[in-house]
Amino acid sequence: MTAATDVVVVGGGVIGMTAAFTLQQRGARVTVLSADDPADTVSTVAAAVWYPTHTDEDPRVLRWAHQTYTQLRRQAAGGVPGVVDRPTRMLLRAPYAGPPWWAQACADLVAEPAHPPYTALLRFTAPTVEMSPYLAWLRQRLEAGGGRLLRRQVRRLTDAFDIAPTVVNATGLAAGRLAADPAMHPVRGHLVLVANPGLTVSIRDEDDPAGITYVHPRRHDVVLGGTYQPGVAHTAPDPDTATAIRSRCVALVPELADAPVLGERIGLRPARHGGPRVEVDPSSRPGRRLVHAYGHGGAGVTLSWGCATEVADLAVGD
Ligand SMILES: Cc1cc2nc3c(=O)[nH]c(=O)nc-3n(C[C@H](O)[C@H](O)[C@H](O)COP(=O)(O)OP(=O)(O)OC[C@H]3O[C@@H](n4cnc5c(N)ncnc54)[C@H](O)[C@@H]3O)c2cc1C
Repeated sequence: MTAATDVVVVGGGVIGMTAAFTLQQRGARVTVLSADDPADTVSTVAAAVWYPTHTDEDPRVLRWAHQTYTQLRRQAAGGVPGVVDRPTRMLLRAPYAGPPWWAQACADLVAEPAHPPYTALLRFTAPTVEMSPYLAWLRQRLEAGGGRLLRRQVRRLTDAFDIAPTVVNATGLAAGRLAADPAMHPVRGHLVLVANPGLTVSIRDEDDPAGITYVHPRRHDVVLGGTYQPGVAHTAPDPDTATAIRSRCVALVPELADAPVLGERIGLRPARHGGPRVEVDPSSRPGRRLVHAYGHGGAGVTLSWGCATEVADLAVGD
């Protein structure tokens, strides 16, 4: 394995897999190590709708969001498994003070007046992703190009230097321990999946005082959300929360009233105070480079391709 690998990506979630694919496109021979099956990562739980939720206004984040938006819309047009464009309506409750800071990242955002309790309605197109087929597609593309994904847990990031001189740390929440980063923290998220009664439009009411509320139709189901619980680190089911999510969503979209419940998804967003860490570790020296790519919180899919470009620049650029 040593001779065949230029870069080891530790982490097989959306951040690791998009970085691995991008590195391979730049000519690197890539091995991905993942402690978990990709189907068991936080990335698979994601509602996976493009939207830079709970991110701070930051030119880096805007750039990543825009690059990812462009790439996902291209993928939707090109028929990549699981990727579709969704017309989106976002209901605002705070006094409207102009387009949000991230508006430039998407192509077609317009604001309209809205009825109380809302103050404005934003309309835009948001690419959305079904993560299971999408991660499988990324893996298949990686392997078709000569890369590989191995189920393997590293004890320390430096162990991966046994395989290649360049290591990308895309370990999500585990980066808190592996990179000794106290800014990392979990943010629990809870989703309810119901059968799709024919919806095609995504609707968000992020500022609902009863809890963050969103309805995201997919091909065969609808993702109802949600919760955003900083510091809550367990993924045990919570029937009361599921009931509350469902009733908030039915109030927003009455057509959901009779939609059978198909399941629930609970995951821990890998959040980081100060925003995602995408940089070369200061301990790196010539011939041994560690690039961090973690801490994307509730926006990992939204930022994935932009971050992957930056990771590749840091990992194989000069
Ligand atoms: C309920 C919910 C809804 C969400 N909705 C959205 C959304 O609509 N839009 C959006 O953009 N984002 C959304 N997110 C956020 C998104 O899921 C995350 O930002 C993203 O999945 C983070 O990806 P990641 O690759 O960093 O981490 P992960 O998916 O957690 O992957 C980490 C990888 O590192 C591996 N790993 C960890 N430790 C080791 C080790 N020691 N050795 C080897 N491998 C290791 C794991 O096995 C895994 O492969 C949502 C999240 C949740 C929970």
